[in-house]
Amino acid sequence: VVHCSLLVDSFKKYYPWVQLAGHAGNFQWDEYGRLLKKYCECEQLCLTRLMDDSLQPFVPSYHGVARRDGQDYNVMEDLLASFDSPSIMDCKMGSRTYLEEELVKAQQRPKLRRDMYEKMVAVDPDAPSPEERRQQAILKPRYMQWRETLSSTATLGFRIEGIKKADGTCNTNFKRTKHREQVMKALEDFVNGNSEILRRYRKRLEELRGVLEMSEFFRTHEVVGSSLLFVHDSSGQAQVWMIDFGKTVPLPPRQTLDHRTPWVEGNREDGYLWGLDNLIEILGAMLAS
Ligand code: ATP
Ligand code: MG
Ligand code: MG
Repeated sequence: VVHCSLLVDSFKKYYPWVQLAGHAGNFQWDEYGRLLKKYCECEQLCLTRLMDDSLQPFVPSYHGVARRDGQDYNVMEDLLASFDSPSIMDCKMGSRTYLEEELVKAQQRPKLRRDMYEKMVAVDPDAPSPEERRQQAILKPRYMQWRETLSSTATLGFRIEGIKKADGTCNTNFKRTKHREQVMKALEDFVNGNSEILRRYRKRLEELRGVLEMSEFFRTHEVVGSSLLFVHDSSGQAQVWMIDFGKTVPLPPRQTLDHRTPWVEGNREDGYLWGLDNLIEILGAMLAS
């Protein structure tokens, strides 16, 4: 993960583009100032379908595939382009951030992992069970599930990945921001206590929720590791879009999700709407106080 790399657009020389997640090398720009993200078929399929879905106003517009130096990219709208020194937040949605198929893969070859045990102990010496302690190793599925309990992913259905403010300060260290009060504090700081911005974000999220509940695309996809990108600036503009569809996969024919039912292995529920409910509720509580 690259922390707040300020990549200067080769086209608009003075525009410091900001990236809050992923690898810096995965992004380029074209001569129109559009964003090129390293190609992923899954993302291409999603963006293509989203352009014909009711969710289209909440997604960067998609312009197909471009090739640069032998590498393919998905070309999409740069959501920061119309802002002046924006403040930006990436919020990863859902109650789990790995796909069910990744879990199944990890379960098929159950191998004891010493490296994962060590990572776990480094964060929380009390996390391993007595048996894991005896083995000085853990199974990968167990590690994957434990990791989600560190942040607010498991308890609130979303987590903050990174925040970059207009004043240049940047924080991607939210891996252990877990409790409601901690999240509220981070959000309060993100908007500099500006309740008008908070109100606009809440309104936009309520609109998004209404559209998600009606969306054919959303009903028929497991949406994992996708983020909401929050962007505001001093003009008072405050917008939210859905980004990152690298782990958004279609369900088998006739299967649907409600995105609120708690996940149990096999039901593929991702907790996306549950997380959005919690996020909207938290913004409401901040506005009421
Ligand atoms: P990861 O899977 O680790 O989250 P990734 O390589 O899939 O990373 P994204 O999450 O899609 O990449 O994007 C990384 C960052 O780039 C986002 O947090 C955001 O700051 C920025 N970004 C992505 N898409 C856009 C966009 N369309 N407009 C503006 N900024 C964007
Ligand atoms: Mg992402
Ligand atoms: Mg991704």
